[in-house]
Amino acid sequence: MLLQIDEPNTGTTKPESLSCAIGIDLGTTNSVAAIYKNGKSEVLQDDLGPLFIPSVISTQTGDLHSTKRMMHQPTTIISGNYTALTAAQNILKILKTRAEKALGYHVHQAVITVPAYFDDTARQATKDAASLAGIEVLRLINEPTAAALAYGLDEGKEGTFVVYDFGGGTFDVSVLSMRKGVFQVLATGGHTQLGGDDIDALITKHFGWNDHLKARFAKETLSHGLNEELLNTLCEPLIKQTLTICEQALKDAGITKKQVDGIILVGGSTKLQTVRTSVKIFFEQDPLINLDPDCVVAFGAALQAHQLTSKTDTLLLDVIPISLGIETMGDIVEVIIPRNSPIPIRMAQDFTTYENGQTAINIHVVQGEREFVKDCRSLAKFTLIGIPPMLAGAARVRITFSIDADGLLTVSAKEQTTGTIQQVEVKPSYGLSTEDYALMLKQSYEHAEEDINNRLLTSATIKAEQLIAQLESALNIDAHLLNELQINAFKICIQDVKSAIETQDRLSIQKACDNLASLAQPFAEKRIAHAIKQKFQHQTIS
Ligand code: ADP
Ligand code: MG
Repeated sequence: MLLQIDEPNTGTTKPESLSCAIGIDLGTTNSVAAIYKNGKSEVLQDDLGPLFIPSVISTQTGDLHSTKRMMHQPTTIISGNYTALTAAQNILKILKTRAEKALGYHVHQAVITVPAYFDDTARQATKDAASLAGIEVLRLINEPTAAALAYGLDEGKEGTFVVYDFGGGTFDVSVLSMRKGVFQVLATGGHTQLGGDDIDALITKHFGWNDHLKARFAKETLSHGLNEELLNTLCEPLIKQTLTICEQALKDAGITKKQVDGIILVGGSTKLQTVRTSVKIFFEQDPLINLDPDCVVAFGAALQAHQLTSKTDTLLLDVIPISLGIETMGDIVEVIIPRNSPIPIRMAQDFTTYENGQTAINIHVVQGEREFVKDCRSLAKFTLIGIPPMLAGAARVRITFSIDADGLLTVSAKEQTTGTIQQVEVKPSYGLSTEDYALMLKQSYEHAEEDINNRLLTSATIKAEQLIAQLESALNIDAHLLNELQINAFKICIQDVKSAIETQDRLSIQKACDNLASLAQPFAEKRIAHAIKQKFQHQTIS
């Protein structure tokens, strides 16, 4: 074996630890704690029942509901001493204590989910609440991403997925794209006052009741004179609204319904048959419903917690096993991060344009130990646009590769004068096994000499072509500075370089270029002198 990928001491039995990591869906209406064991996720259960608890704080002056809605202003007092931060802290503390009872282990770590639209403040507040509750957050993940993980959509083929989350107080839709093992949120949409509570309010109003809890019970069990037909009629306008939001989200993501590879239902309100039917008709395909929509987010979080703490995961590499780079002129790979670099790591290199007036540059991220793009693995392609038109070689584009502790690679390209930036994320280890790594290395050793010779030849050819192009354009402008004999000498020399390029012999190309360059030297000096003279004349006239 050429390379050891897993950490040492793995793959064998782990010492029984007395601490474990769980997944928590800290919801607006309900919060859920789950654990991944024996190959699947399950909701934790202690002697009081499942850890599926209302996100409600009881205070002396009454109950506090939906405090998660205030998480972007975490320290604003909501009632009494309570802020969104302390409310979340309390809910997490209860889940932690009960999880420890249920498991008989300490629970020090968790993956916690947050809505995709949560801003930095709300995300930091969630982390702070956890830390105050004695929980280290292994990672915050987006709720829709967690649902997609629970369905194993990161393991299968690449695709575009819609997560339709109809909960108690809110409706959220997310369009996710799964590429190279990374989920990206393409678009989100939603309504902060559209959920099961609104259905309850309609039922309460219809029957003239004054008790929302009764309505909720009637809805969930189809009792108290509420039949399915009536429920469907009452829900219809609300469901229509959710589908209009879906339509907009698809538009924002730039995709059509036909391009959706799967729809995941999340949230208690998607248990309603009428919701399922409407979603199916709208997207023209059956939504995924194998997993309980109440628990699917917590399941994904539990799975992620397991993956982050189990050492056998090949994603938890502490070095990058294969070099990462980009494609440059002539199909040549320029390595940005060499193999065996410890992670996390960040490395940058400056590149420039090849043609005059070039305003965009294609960036092709590749992985491998070979000198040519065709022999490496293609990871991602993107285009940096908005480069101001300049002479070839004048633009400065900084390409930065950064790999985080989880092996996630972010490549960004920034044009230095305008600050235009474009970036892409990939997981270089996605889809590669230990054997694949070993094979890539073996091939690079076998082809090392041939590769390096080809690379030198290609570089020499590109340089020669550039030299010819520069001279031809100079001759077009300033041929009058030369006599016929000199012009002919240039033509012969240029033809020599062109013939040398055809022979594909690097040394001949270099020799012909050297000849041409020494012939060009006095011409270049003449051109400069001429330009200065012209400028000087111009100034005396004006
Ligand atoms: P949140 O994500 O906001 O915390 P949930 O996903 O837990 O909310 O959803 C809670 C909502 O789901 C409530 O409005 C509840 O009445 C509704 N709900 C739960 N079970 C059912 C059911 N069987 N039928 C209809 N609605 C249900
Ligand atoms: Mg939810």
